[in-house]
This record gives sequence, structure tokens and C-alpha cells, in this order.
Amino acid sequence: MALLDGNALAGPLVELLGWDATASIIRCTHCGARGALASVVVYASPMGSVARCAGCDAVLLTLVDAPDGRGWVGMPGLDALEVRRDR
Ligand SMILES: [Zn+2]
Repeated sequence: MALLDGNALAGPLVELLGWDATASIIRCTHCGARGALASVVVYASPMGSVARCAGCDAVLLTLVDAPDGRGWVGMPGLDALEVRRDR
């Protein structure tokens, strides 16, 4: 399992959501830390990625590639995700 920063989520997020959210501000539900999604710690594997808070290590976001071709996005530790409409 590779240890990366949040920039590693750019390609998968574009593929799954249609836009790159790595510059978006997020807030950790567990500790309240705020920052760009690019600042999280990412554990990447062939099946997907788990993004953890750099402050408290809580799981913020999961991206899973299912064998049937579907993708799953989980946001168990995100209190908020900035969505910019000017892109
Ligand atoms: Zn946190």
C-alpha cells in the first residue's frame, strides 16, 4: 500500500465525480481540522484509496473501484467539502 498526499486523489475524483476536488477546503468531523483536500494523507491500493486526516488520522474519504466497474465514494469523516461553482 502506497502512502501519498491528497494530490493522488485528483485523477480518481475526476473519474468518479467529474471534477478535481483536491483544491477544495474540507473539514474533519473528528478534530475540526480544515485545509485543502490535497493536504490529507492517502493510502492507495489497486482497489482504491483511503484518505486520512493529517491532524488526527481519522478516515475522511474512501474511493473504491468495484470489480463490476462501479466506483464508490465514501465520506465518513468529512464534515464539509467546499464545492466551487466557478470552475
Ligand atoms: Zn482530524
